[in-house]
Amino acid sequence: MKYFALFGNPVSHSISPRLHNSALCGLGINGIYGRILLEQGGDIIDKFKKYSLQGANITVPFKESVINLCDELDSIAKEIGSINTLVRIGDKIKGYNTDAPGFMMAISEFGKINKALILGAGGTAKALAYILDLSGVNVEILNRSDKSEQFNNYKFHTHTNFTPGSYDLVVNTTSAGLCNDELPCDKHLLNDIFSNSKFAFDVIYNKNTQFLRLANELNVQNKDGRDMLLYQAVLAFNIFFDNKFNQDKITQLMRGVFEL
Ligand code: NDP
Repeated sequence: MKYFALFGNPVSHSISPRLHNSALCGLGINGIYGRILLEQGGDIIDKFKKYSLQGANITVPFKESVINLCDELDSIAKEIGSINTLVRIGDKIKGYNTDAPGFMMAISEFGKINKALILGAGGTAKALAYILDLSGVNVEILNRSDKSEQFNNYKFHTHTNFTPGSYDLVVNTTSAGLCNDELPCDKHLLNDIFSNSKFAFDVIYNKNTQFLRLANELNVQNKDGRDMLLYQAVLAFNIFFDNKFNQDKITQLMRGVFEL
């Protein structure tokens, strides 16, 4: 029997166990994926070893703190400074970030993106700015507070010093809209931004946020963060099993969970 788990606080809301158990079951693997609620991230590796886990995912608020506890990191996790996946390789534990490549898979249907505006300047914004930049996209950041020192490589704006340009893609990575119906910035400003943009993406999933509703009203093609969540899980699953399984098959099995 192989064991997997999600570490975080909270973990009860997460759909990750259902996604991974659906793939384990569908592929006939003798394994189970559970949830482990932690008070503090310093315990993650001890618990990983204690429960003899083969792999794990990490969610808020431990994605950044666990990085110093890994034996090895993949190059994307190292650059971004945040991990969401742990895997046992021999007697070592390696950390990966699959949120960023999962996002790139989710936006692939938009076609070629040359210029993107990211709303927000938290952990997700850092990950997406890095992976977009790596893919040759010109990235700008817009946040309510000044965090320009954390985004040295990008053009950084606050709401008060910003004049919108034109963008292929606008991404909401703020938590505005997650537990309320707020917009990530003033409605007039977002109107101006969308008026010169082709695509909108909200990392919040399974919710028709006001950000997405406004994009719809202005005929900006858009999608929510469900596929990003799906693909980060697909990529993590493949890392757990050293890419042994067909990615399309895992995607199909996990996608079925959303359709239940
Ligand atoms: P952080 O806490 O690191 O960053 C949150 C950002 O949102 C900050 O820049 C903050 O601004 C801004 N913000 C918060 N509230 C508001 C508001 N009311 N108006 C404007 N800006 C606001 O969060 P994360 O980056 O970790 O996560 C952000 C979102 O991404 C969450 O909703 C999370 O659920 C989602 N997510 C989705 C994933 C998926 O697979 N679909 C994967 C990972 C995350 P300031 O800096 O000024 O405080």
